[in-house]
Amino acid sequence: MSLFALFLLAFAGYFAFGLEAPEKKAIADYAAGVGADLLDAVKARNFEAVSLKNPTVRTADGKPYAEEISLERTYDNLGGAWPKAARPERNPRHRVISENHEKGVYIYESPGYYFYADSPIAYDASMHFATLFETTKAFMKSLPLGLLKADAETERSKVLIFGADTAYMKSGGPPNSGGCYIPGKRYVLVPVSSLELRKTDKGFERDERKDHKVLIHELAHQLTPAAYYAHGSMGWFSEGLAEYVGTTPYKPGYFWVDPHGNSAKEYATAYGDDGRRGRVLGTDISVPPLKDFMLMSYDRFTGIEANRNYGVALLLTYYFFHMEGGGGAHRITEFLRGLKAGKYGEEALMPLHNGEGFAQLEADISAAWAQKGVRLTFGGR
Ligand SMILES: [Zn+2]
Repeated sequence: MSLFALFLLAFAGYFAFGLEAPEKKAIADYAAGVGADLLDAVKARNFEAVSLKNPTVRTADGKPYAEEISLERTYDNLGGAWPKAARPERNPRHRVISENHEKGVYIYESPGYYFYADSPIAYDASMHFATLFETTKAFMKSLPLGLLKADAETERSKVLIFGADTAYMKSGGPPNSGGCYIPGKRYVLVPVSSLELRKTDKGFERDERKDHKVLIHELAHQLTPAAYYAHGSMGWFSEGLAEYVGTTPYKPGYFWVDPHGNSAKEYATAYGDDGRRGRVLGTDISVPPLKDFMLMSYDRFTGIEANRNYGVALLLTYYFFHMEGGGGAHRITEFLRGLKAGKYGEEALMPLHNGEGFAQLEADISAAWAQKGVRLTFGGR
């Protein structure tokens, strides 16, 4: 039996006392839902691939599964103005829902999130997470990309924090991953080793020497509509968007967009603008032909060249958000409109090259990044 199965068993007898009804329901939903998801995920080679089983996602051969994404659950702001910065509407309140030392189950909440841990989280650290969660949500909401609403009480996002990498992996976290996202139920799982936390005798405390990019990356997946995980988008765009959000400069309670691409460049080519974490690709990067790159299977995307692919996905996404057409983001807007209308594969990519073909688009992207000192050469492996 996995540690997480024990964790779930712990839930079973645990919530019978003392909680208000909405909290009880949220936690019961969590316990019931996460069990089935984790069983699936443990069997899968990696979590993000589990989304191919999600009924709202189209497979590579284009067959839609039963259910289309419900568009009223996404913001109707496609094509709007790009924000310069974002912060939550008010200071995020947060509170302890339950700290059960006997069972080792600790639950906290902020307006849009429940977060669960297997050790108690110190007050300043849990305040830090509440702020990071709510600010990420505010930033995603402000992006004119028609991202996912998760405002309703019943849709609160859920994040599970594990003290040990072994517990994270036993619960299904892919080896060598710093965090993961389970589509469908929309859980983020993350081990303390990739959070700004350290484990002490008393529980989890804040560790400011570490960074938050992995967590923000996974939170971004959580707010990305299922339609954007379609073939032709999953990989270069779904990961590029998460990398974009994760590398946008952040200070507690505040994101500000970098209109010059310096933080994206530093992250893709070196160790990021804070010197802590990056893809370290250098400034001379060889990329497969663009069309192949954009239509690459997710298995291949996350395979042997994953590090290169994530870094390039960031550069491409940044190009479409801030460089293409003078920064109006028109082509990416049309691309996303198409995905929401059910397009996928090569057809979905058409608005990105605007009928001019991939060779022209490769030349445009290379020229734009060359101006910032990054040489992208398409046509490699
Ligand atoms: Zn990802």
